[in-house]
Amino acid sequence: MKHGHTHLFIPGPTNVPERIRRAMNVPMEDMRAPDFGAFTKPLFEGLKRIFKTTDSRMFMFPGSGTGAWESAITNTLNAGDKVIMSRFGQFSHLWVDMAERLGLDVHCIDVEWGAGVPVDEYARLLEADKSHSIKAVFVTQNETATGVASDVPAVRAALDAANHPALLFVDGVSSIGSIDFQMDAWGVDLAVAGSQKGFMMPAGLSMLAVSPRALEAEKTATMPRCYFSFADMMKVNDDGYFPYTPPTQLFHGLRESIAMLEEEGLENVFARHNRLAEGVRRGIAAWDGCRLCAVGPEWHSDTVSAIVVPESIDARDVIRIGYDKYRTSFGSGLTKVMGKVFRIGHLGDLNEVMCLAALSSAEMALTEAGAKVELGAGVAAAQAYYLEANQDVVNIAAE
Ligand SMILES: *Cc1c(COP(=O)(O)O)cnc(C)c1O
Repeated sequence: MKHGHTHLFIPGPTNVPERIRRAMNVPMEDMRAPDFGAFTKPLFEGLKRIFKTTDSRMFMFPGSGTGAWESAITNTLNAGDKVIMSRFGQFSHLWVDMAERLGLDVHCIDVEWGAGVPVDEYARLLEADKSHSIKAVFVTQNETATGVASDVPAVRAALDAANHPALLFVDGVSSIGSIDFQMDAWGVDLAVAGSQKGFMMPAGLSMLAVSPRALEAEKTATMPRCYFSFADMMKVNDDGYFPYTPPTQLFHGLRESIAMLEEEGLENVFARHNRLAEGVRRGIAAWDGCRLCAVGPEWHSDTVSAIVVPESIDARDVIRIGYDKYRTSFGSGLTKVMGKVFRIGHLGDLNEVMCLAALSSAEMALTEAGAKVELGAGVAAAQAYYLEANQDVVNIAAE
C-alpha cells in the first residue's frame, strides 16, 4: 500500500501545483474557433514578461526543451557555420552533439564537469576572430547534470568588448522562471525553455524567445526545417493560431503558471529558489564525505544540486534506496558521473519543508548505501539556515 505523497526531487519534470493541474482539466476545444486567438495571444505576452523581453518574438512548439534547441539552430544558422560551444555536463554535451549532427562547425571547449562556461576563452576566441567567421556563441545557463550556473551577461560583455556580431544562444530550460534571466538587458538573441521545469507544468511545450537580429538571420538561413519552422508559425501566430494542432491543455496550464509566477513576483520567485537552494547546500555541506559537484560558489545553481558521494559508495544505490524505501525520487548521475553523483532538484513548486524532507530521505538512503553521514546533520544545518533566512517572514501561509 502506498500512503501519503511521493516525493519528486528530480530537476524536471517538477511538481505540478494543484492550481495548474486543475486549470488543465478542461474539455477539448476548437483551435480554429473565432475566439481562440483571444485566449492564446496573452500567453505570448506573458512569456515575454517571464523572459524579460519586449523586443523579441515568442514561439511555442509542441515539444520538449530538445525541440526548442533544434528549432533555434535550424531556423537561424546554416550548415557549416562556425559556432562556439562549451561542454561541462550532459545537457551542454547533448546540445553540442545536436549542433554537430545538424552540420554546424562547432568549436567545442571541454570544461571539467563542475565548472561552467569559460568566458575568458570565449572572449579570446571572439577577439581573435577579426573576420567574424563565428556566427553564434552558445551558453547553457544552468547545467542540470552538475548543478552549475553560468554567467550569461559576462558572455554578452565578451561579445561587446570584441565588437563581435555573433548571435548569443542561451539554453534556459532549467533556469528561466526560477533563476534570473534577462533577454533584452543581456542582449540574448535566442533563448529556449521547456514547460516541465521552472514553469511547473507537464513536459510538452518548447518555448523560445527570438531577438530581432535572430529573426533577421532567419530570413536567409538555409537549414531545412519544417515542423519547427519559425516562418510557418509567424504566418498565423499574430492572430493567435497555429499551423498544426496546438496542445490546448498545456496552454491552460501555461496561463496559470504565468499567473502564479507573477502573483508571487519574479524577483520573489528567484529569491525563494536561492533561499531553498542555500538550505540544501548547507545540508549537503554537513554530510561527511559528500560534496557538491559544482567546484565553487560562483557556479552554484539555485535550481539543482548535484552531490558527489564518497568513493566507497555507489550513488545509484542511494537513488534506488530512496525510491524503493522512501518513495523519494532523486536525479541520477548522468553518463560521466553515473554512480558518483545523485541530484536534488529544488525548483518549481517547492518550499522549505519539502527541501528538509529531501535531505532527510537522502540521509537515510546515504546511510543505508554505506556512507558515514550523521543522521539529521544535514537537516539540522538546513533548518538553522531557514530559521535565519525567514526571520522577517511573518507568515508564509497567509500570503
Ligand atoms: C531538461 C533540459 C534540457 C532538455 O529538455 P527536454 O525537455 O528533456 O527535451 C535541455 N537543457 C537543459 C539545461 C535541461 O535541464
